[in-house]
Amino acid sequence: MIPSVTLNSGAKMPIVGLGTWRVEQGKVIEAVKVAISAGYRHIDGAYVYENEEEVGAGIHAMIDQGVVKREELFVVSKLWCTFHVPSLVRGACEKTLSDLKLDYLDLYLMHFPMGAKPGDEFFPADENNKFISDGSSFLDTWEAMERLVDAGLVKAIGISNFNKDQIEAVLNKPGLKYKPVINQIECHPYLIQEKLINYCHSKGIAVTAYSPLGSPDRPWASSDEPSLLKEPKITAIAKKYKKTPAQVLIRFHIQRNVVVIAKSATPHRIKENLQLFDFELSDDDMKTMLSLNNNWRAFKMEWASEHKDFPLKAEY
Ligand code: NDP
Repeated sequence: MIPSVTLNSGAKMPIVGLGTWRVEQGKVIEAVKVAISAGYRHIDGAYVYENEEEVGAGIHAMIDQGVVKREELFVVSKLWCTFHVPSLVRGACEKTLSDLKLDYLDLYLMHFPMGAKPGDEFFPADENNKFISDGSSFLDTWEAMERLVDAGLVKAIGISNFNKDQIEAVLNKPGLKYKPVINQIECHPYLIQEKLINYCHSKGIAVTAYSPLGSPDRPWASSDEPSLLKEPKITAIAKKYKKTPAQVLIRFHIQRNVVVIAKSATPHRIKENLQLFDFELSDDDMKTMLSLNNNWRAFKMEWASEHKDFPLKAEY
């Protein structure tokens, strides 16, 4: 049994999940099957990952084999930026549900606060290579997402990559019906997000940490950037507990009461990344890991830096 966090909707969300970004086509079904067999009950996906049909096939294979029941799973997807115009939100969610072949999602996140020009391109850009806004307000998008809860398509809604001011704007929205249950953000020892996590927790909003291993397979990685998995202080801590650096990096979030989603498409790593509950990092080791903070981001979101709702302009 994987421990869970209780969301402000009352639902319980397993504190560890499987990330599915950049799992190659042809490997997704197997990764999801291996994960569910190993005990994962939380799968993190998104429309923009372009693999939801395979994620769904993996889930259904495990349901059909009697390994798991739908209601034991916590399935997450995300609304892409080009569907922020309120009239597009329901169709986007229905497309994800039909790709996954599911009747409902446990959680649907607004992937970014930034709406973008609707159309076939995920990253519509103008002649200066700037992300083209759709002019929408994420507050109106949020209202359209609230209607998905009322329609029974999703059990809960949340946000991703929102800064404090943007969260506050949602919480202060006149007529707010549902508070976000989660803010999913990049978080690891190089980006500990102390202020944003404290703010979210103070408002009853849970936090999910993405890229907990520093997203080493991100396409724009360069060799001169720091590597969490090779960080000497992390490898030393891992050695002490007879664990791997990845296990220590994932466990770090659990001890901060933060939900964590590591991605792997490698069966032995998928299993390894769940072997987290037979050790506890000491306070000193947690402090050492927190002291590595240098505000380095794997996701600088430069493609959207001039968007009116670019979230990384704020201090947090
Ligand atoms: P992670 O930090 O999870 O790193 C994934 C990489 O680490 C892969 O290259 C994987 O390799 C490798 N890896 C996994 N386990 C181990 C291990 N035990 N030892 C060594 N290497 C390992 O990166 P992601 O950026 O993928 O983040 C995780 C998830 O978060 C995503 O998949 C996605 O679901 C979500 N996410 C959400 C975002 C958002 O904007 N809301 C943005 C980015 C991510 P391999 O697969 O080859 O095993």
